[in-house]
Amino acid sequence: MGKTIFLDLDGPVIDVSRRYYAVHSEILKDIDVTPAPYAVYWEGKRKRQALDQIEPGLADPSVLSRYRVRWLESIEDRRFLYLDQIQQGAAPALQHLRGEGFQLAAATLRQQCDNLLWELERLGVRGAFDEILCSGDTQSAEGWILKRRLIETAPQRLRDALLLVGDTEVDVLAARALGLASVAVLNGIRSRDPLAGVSPDFIIRDLAELVSILPRVCV
Ligand SMILES: [Mg+2]
Repeated sequence: MGKTIFLDLDGPVIDVSRRYYAVHSEILKDIDVTPAPYAVYWEGKRKRQALDQIEPGLADPSVLSRYRVRWLESIEDRRFLYLDQIQQGAAPALQHLRGEGFQLAAATLRQQCDNLLWELERLGVRGAFDEILCSGDTQSAEGWILKRRLIETAPQRLRDALLLVGDTEVDVLAARALGLASVAVLNGIRSRDPLAGVSPDFIIRDLAELVSILPRVCV
């Protein structure tokens, strides 16, 4: 039986909703567009609606491309990372899993690995992981391919992997390509429908629920 659990960070462990909306609002205000209310933005994002559907003010392709450039420049800026919070119940769940003898390896497609480590320290969970794999690359290929490659760089002692927990289709597709069980959480950046569309092995509410399904994953 595998003893390593790979975990995506943004979504399953970290609640990024306030950061995403703050970056979104700032960009829109700078181009004189009034942003949609938080709930409209976040639910649209979770349903994987096109950005110009959520914000008709981004319908012009040149405006949308400027938005995307600004987004990449800002989304991992420390002044926005300050808005992130640990998902409710995530820290005790991580602790419990380690207590049960699992190795926990974070695998994230963040671009700015220094800022990531700074943030994990700030949130008090850096020590919760046996290994932190940070891509530093979100551009050179599709997300699931980058995540697969990232996990393939894991040290030998983590090669007994069992599953990959994440909150988007990227995580589910990467898990499948790696031959790992895929577990999708519903408290991140996707709602049930887009996740169900890529058929993860398990869909759970949050990391706290992972503890209760492990006996079924480990058979
Ligand atoms: Mg994520």
